[in-house]
Amino acid sequence: MASGTESAELARMIDAAGAVVAFTGAGISTECGIPDFRSRDSAWTRHPPMPFEDFLASEENRVLAWRRKFAMDDLHRDVRPGRGHRALARLMASGKVIGVITQNIDGLHQAAGSPGDEVVELHGNGGYALCLGCGVRHEIARVRKQFEIDARAPRCLCGGMVKSATISFGQAMPADAMARARALTLRADLFLAIGSSLVVHPAAAFPAAARRNGARLAILNREPTRLDAIADLVLRDDIGDVLDPLGR
Ligand code: NAD
Repeated sequence: MASGTESAELARMIDAAGAVVAFTGAGISTECGIPDFRSRDSAWTRHPPMPFEDFLASEENRVLAWRRKFAMDDLHRDVRPGRGHRALARLMASGKVIGVITQNIDGLHQAAGSPGDEVVELHGNGGYALCLGCGVRHEIARVRKQFEIDARAPRCLCGGMVKSATISFGQAMPADAMARARALTLRADLFLAIGSSLVVHPAAAFPAAARRNGARLAILNREPTRLDAIADLVLRDDIGDVLDPLGR
């Protein structure tokens, strides 16, 4: 269970704030059945995401990347938003939280009711695919149907490679999402970093930027993070337990 004193302090900080921005990582989705990268025996170990350079390098690699993607999709087919996603959606509906910046690719903030235009997905979304050539969107269900017929890596009508709309290691960050995340960060007077080990950059730079800009910083993560030393409040508790009472 969450420590009562720190949870009460978090609730007070949220009450006192004018504009709260939440920054979320894989930890907010673990209670939904999607493991983070740090969990032992996680499915990510069996189906590791492929670096961008390797995806581009060969048809064989792309086929493997798509096989891993479909295997992960099968494991996560029935996931539903957790208590953390739902609490943030409530706080957004009341206007307290002005936006969520997420490292996650699972779409669970939107599934919980957070408006899509107020959720910034820094690492993209695994729910669809994009052509790396012309940028057109491809639906995963159609891509998969074709893959099951010919076992070939999908190609767009323009000839471009089709890739899940997630940002792989080594792939350029999406300029639009980065700009929106920067703008949100600068509007925050309270920045909540939730369920991220804060080691993946440049995403992890946002909490530090908010702090430098004068925002208060609260970190909710069950393990220590690199930014604990500059935070105003650190809660080493379970995300669902801490966030569940908020916004009711
Ligand atoms: P991470 O795996 O590096 O860190 C997650 C942190 O959350 C860990 O420190 C862990 O101790 C903590 N945590 C896990 N469950 C928790 C709980 N219930 N309560 C409190 N703390 C909890 O994840 P990251 O920092 O987000 O970075 C990994 C990268 O992997 C991201 O860039 C993301 O794109 C990708 N990823 C996404 C998903 C997803 O979409 N759900 C899942 C795994 C990885």
